Amino acid sequence: MTPLFDPALKEQLSTAASFLWLNPAYRSKMDKTRQPLSIDDIKSADLRLHRFAPLLQKLFPELQQSHGLIESELQAIPNMQHAVFPELPGKLMIKADHALPVAGSIKARGGIYEVLCHCESLALKHSILSSTEDNYLKLIDTDAREIFSRYKIAVSSTGNLGLSIGIISSALGFNATVHMSAEAKDWKKKRLRERGVSVIEHSDDYSAAVTAGRQQSEADPLSYFIDDENSSQLFTGYAVAALRLKEQLKAQQVAVDAEHPLFVYLPCGVGGAPGGITFGLKQIFGPYVHCFFAEPVQAPCVLIGLQADSEETLLSVYDVGLTVTTEADGLAVSKASAWVCSVIKNILSGVFTVEDNSLFRHLYQLYLHENITLEPSAAAGFSGPEHIIQSETGRRYLEQENLLGHLDKATHLIWTTGGLFVPPEEMKKSQHYGQQLIENNN
Ligand SMILES: *Cc1c(COP(=O)(O)O)cnc(C)c1O
Repeated sequence: MTPLFDPALKEQLSTAASFLWLNPAYRSKMDKTRQPLSIDDIKSADLRLHRFAPLLQKLFPELQQSHGLIESELQAIPNMQHAVFPELPGKLMIKADHALPVAGSIKARGGIYEVLCHCESLALKHSILSSTEDNYLKLIDTDAREIFSRYKIAVSSTGNLGLSIGIISSALGFNATVHMSAEAKDWKKKRLRERGVSVIEHSDDYSAAVTAGRQQSEADPLSYFIDDENSSQLFTGYAVAALRLKEQLKAQQVAVDAEHPLFVYLPCGVGGAPGGITFGLKQIFGPYVHCFFAEPVQAPCVLIGLQADSEETLLSVYDVGLTVTTEADGLAVSKASAWVCSVIKNILSGVFTVEDNSLFRHLYQLYLHENITLEPSAAAGFSGPEHIIQSETGRRYLEQENLLGHLDKATHLIWTTGGLFVPPEEMKKSQHYGQQLIENNN
């Protein structure tokens, strides 16, 4: 008989109200010997991205300035902090993945990385590259593209992963197929079709689209499926963000140590992106970084997934009476990645759930005070600081980790995960909705 998780927690979840859950399995000291990946794996992923940088710079003119690296800014948001979080001790910052070039969301990290891994291995196999020291610009020669065009890359997505995989795959000459789940926004599908990517629309949820996409791809030996539920390459690509953030914090003289805790708030879908980043950050900053995931009240799949002790006992949001419905399409996932849950089990501090209305309010406030534009999913982290600093549960965490005396020197980093490509009229609608909620005190 499988031990069903805590009935009180199940009851709490089923009310679909926002709350903070602390992970009882969290250990401030990470047992590095029990981890499936190491800091060296993350560093070698970063090296691979550097090998491809000259090629990416050629393919995507927007990468001119960064010399082919896809990276976002670390920035303080003093106006937002002053206006919306006046009582928050410490410093409020964002990691601006909403503006990541090429894919317009955090998926540029994992998705593009995995396609580059596949591309590199095919190029070596077909002797387009003689070794990893070779000139990667050879990969845009006509004969290389001709070879890549025989291969397919497939993925299932609620929107953004499909955008990232579709854009990079078609730029390299691969045949790309994206299986979109029901919540995918029309503009995301349109943008892909314009680039020659074939988009298959599913009327089912994300987990069903992954199963369908995986099955179809496995039937074709020339097709490679990017498996968001089981991919250590996606995860490693996301983890590289931690190395980059470390440098950015240093450059901006933001200390992270026993006296200067770093709280990181990450919007979470299937778990790969926030999980990979958490994994990387814990490798670098150990007990001094505290990572919390943000999930929609109707789709807290990782919170639920972390209650399971194996893939067989992992429940979906439907199993606790929730619906997965949310305007945060990037987070609309019914079942977590079991693999990611097992890797983050002891390193994630907790999860808070977020109502859709909060997303729109924060999205509007960030626009109003900082002129920054996000898609709804990307605003989920903004509810974090309040949960940690003001709720009873949050205070319990601060007490237990001995952080109460260091809050004035803390940094609260909100990961803003998507938005660059949202069409202006769509963006205006979201902002207007948030403005109305605030004016009507909702
Ligand atoms: C995909 C996505 C996330 C979460 O990533 P997962 O790997 O699914 O957990 C967060 N924000 C946005 C905008 C996304 O597209």
